[in-house]
Amino acid sequence: MGRQFFVGGNFKMNGTIKSITDIVHHLNSAPLDPKTEVVIAPPGLFLLLVREHLKSEIEVCSQNVFDKPNGAFTGEISAEQLKDSKVGWALCGHSERRVVLKEQDDFVASKTKAALDGGLGVILCCGETLEQRESNKTIEVVTTQLKAIAEKTKDWTKIVIAYEPVWAIGTGKVATTQQAQEVHAAIRKWLTEEVSKEAAEATRIIYGGSVSEKNCKELAKEGDIDGFLVGGASLKPAFVDIINAQQ
Ligand code: PGA
Repeated sequence: MGRQFFVGGNFKMNGTIKSITDIVHHLNSAPLDPKTEVVIAPPGLFLLLVREHLKSEIEVCSQNVFDKPNGAFTGEISAEQLKDSKVGWALCGHSERRVVLKEQDDFVASKTKAALDGGLGVILCCGETLEQRESNKTIEVVTTQLKAIAEKTKDWTKIVIAYEPVWAIGTGKVATTQQAQEVHAAIRKWLTEEVSKEAAEATRIIYGGSVSEKNCKELAKEGDIDGFLVGGASLKPAFVDIINAQQ
């Protein structure tokens, strides 16, 4: 069986009760390709609101998760609490958290493991900076980020890998289809060699970084691009066109 197309919407720290409720209503009534798995990640404050009003075909994702089940960790949310709130997914390793909040590979791996152990699916982000790309370090950077995860878990069945070049996030500078496909193929090769042939065949590798309704169809044609992680455009009605990119 082929890999199911996957589209995630990362709202980041955007939205109000009103604007997010409007997005939920829009998604509930829009014609969505039933072949696409759709997951949206509103700010933590709105997770319960979204889960309550969003149709059940669409899953809800936390933008963050902590690596301990409970306790004195002010401001954090655990996988157990997310699961209890019917939030089925967590984002780990987003470059904004790696860069702004200084999250290291090891911590990202710990959080990923905690999310998986807690029964969540994980959208695991990886990607290089412009400087790293220009010094031909893209594949090395991405595989190092993934290696940290492989050291903590052998089970990749609930992981979706999001390749997000840092220079393409929120900049309007999308990777070319060739640049994206090249990295996705390298990630799949890495999975074959370091995890298993089965994991390489089954794991969805999605692209993120300035995806829009204009560029998604072209990107979706590439053999190793199994969907998208969408930031800015997920807040707009055109998000539906991205979900339907394969139609
Ligand atoms: P963008 O963000 O689509 O706004 O570039 C993507 C992301 O950060 O996941």
